[in-house]
Amino acid sequence: MQIPFDNSYARLPDRFFTALPPTPVATPGLIAVNRPLAKELGIILPEDEAEIAAIFAGNTLPDGAAPLAQAYAGHQFGGWVPQLGDGRAVLLGEVVDQKGQRRDIQLKGAGRTPYSRRGDGRAWLGPVLREYLISEAMFALGIPTTRALAAVTTGEAVLRETALPGAIVTRVAASHIRVGTFQYFAARQDADALQALADHAIARHYPEADGPLGLLQAVVAAQAELIAGWMGVGFIHGVMNTDNMSIAGETIDYGPCAFMDAYHSEKVFSSIDQFGRYAYANQPNVAVWNLAQLATALLPLMPDKDDAIEIFTEEINRFPDLFNTAWHHILRGKLGLSTVEEDDIALAFDLLNLMETGAADFTRTFRALSGAQPGSTIEEFASPQGFIEWLPRWQDRLTREPGDDRSRQAAMQAVNPAFIPRNHRVEEMIEAAVSGEYGPFFKLHEILKRPFDDQPEHSAYQTAPGQEEEVTRTFCGT
Ligand code: AMP
Ligand code: MG
Repeated sequence: MQIPFDNSYARLPDRFFTALPPTPVATPGLIAVNRPLAKELGIILPEDEAEIAAIFAGNTLPDGAAPLAQAYAGHQFGGWVPQLGDGRAVLLGEVVDQKGQRRDIQLKGAGRTPYSRRGDGRAWLGPVLREYLISEAMFALGIPTTRALAAVTTGEAVLRETALPGAIVTRVAASHIRVGTFQYFAARQDADALQALADHAIARHYPEADGPLGLLQAVVAAQAELIAGWMGVGFIHGVMNTDNMSIAGETIDYGPCAFMDAYHSEKVFSSIDQFGRYAYANQPNVAVWNLAQLATALLPLMPDKDDAIEIFTEEINRFPDLFNTAWHHILRGKLGLSTVEEDDIALAFDLLNLMETGAADFTRTFRALSGAQPGSTIEEFASPQGFIEWLPRWQDRLTREPGDDRSRQAAMQAVNPAFIPRNHRVEEMIEAAVSGEYGPFFKLHEILKRPFDDQPEHSAYQTAPGQEEEVTRTFCGT
């Protein structure tokens, strides 16, 4: 396999990482390789599947790789952890893709590193396929995300509550620099490293940014867009710790994440999120909290600290406006509104509130709305009365929109997906894979490549879960 590596992170000072190879596995088996993505990255895949599997299992090191585990720290559920780092991931290196974008290629589940603490450095098949499927679905939904290049089985058992099949996912990211990477060096009062990291991040992600303030501004803006994007598709990240917040503004670390079925603003899936810190509608607040940690970490790079605190605080305080602008734009789009009127957002929130009290499915309701006719109901609502009253308000608003009904419907369908990775389908897919049946994985993956297309032959995948099918709890991807 030829991978045109150019490894800039490996050229940073030694204390940024530990150089080490992935730990080879017993018997690599290829589950999936993302050929279009490989092409985009300039990777030439060999014919032989065993050769592909050996590379993405970490058994064969491709020429030019400079494998390493990155050091970082982070706040987990608000609690400070000074030393985290890649405990089960090894960065093979970076490539510059066809568009000139530098991208990381990382094996996740690649064995123990100095940052593993008590962990085994491995991943089991469930989280690997979850990440593959959901990150690729996010990409198809148009939301910034890390990508999945490959998934392999290791032929080894991973001991969790029971013995489970081991697997490795190859993740592609704009970078793996996190808020927690800055915190790591700030906590060590290592201003030189902080400066080098900021320079690296700026050159890589925000070349137009001017110094630490410019970097902070750019990250704040990127995160405001990202979180609005999540909320627009009912996505709940589930573990927005500062070590899981990417400086590049991509969705990263698909652990206990989930898409909502029935809308509820306080929805939580993660089994360890007891107090709803990472609940659906709390995501913008947590982003602000995380970005404030980034600002704090960047302070030592500013000449006058007191001055900097004031300026940075102002920047962080811009988040709500940036987020609301992005979120309101998304909400208008979901309602098929291309022009701006003052009451639009109230109209959208009124619908969301009706969905909440009526336990209406978030995805299905918006998809159905595009075709709703005067006087029609949408079967998603437990009791349709509120919706029946809401509908004429929306339809009245539509009369002040330019363009015809058909183009409005098409525009709505281009932003309101028909298909999302519903939890019960994801769980069903994992269960099948554990018993050696990958059909459901490939099928779901194919459907989710075209989330905005009606695929009548797959309408069963649009359906919300029945009561017995519903998945109410998700678990960390360890
Ligand atoms: P995450 O919950 O994926 O964001 O991981 C939090 C931290 O735990 C990171 O430092 C991971 O590298 C580490 N970690 C998670 N799972 C494992 C594992 N199986 N072995 C070693 N370290 C792990
Ligand atoms: Mg993480």
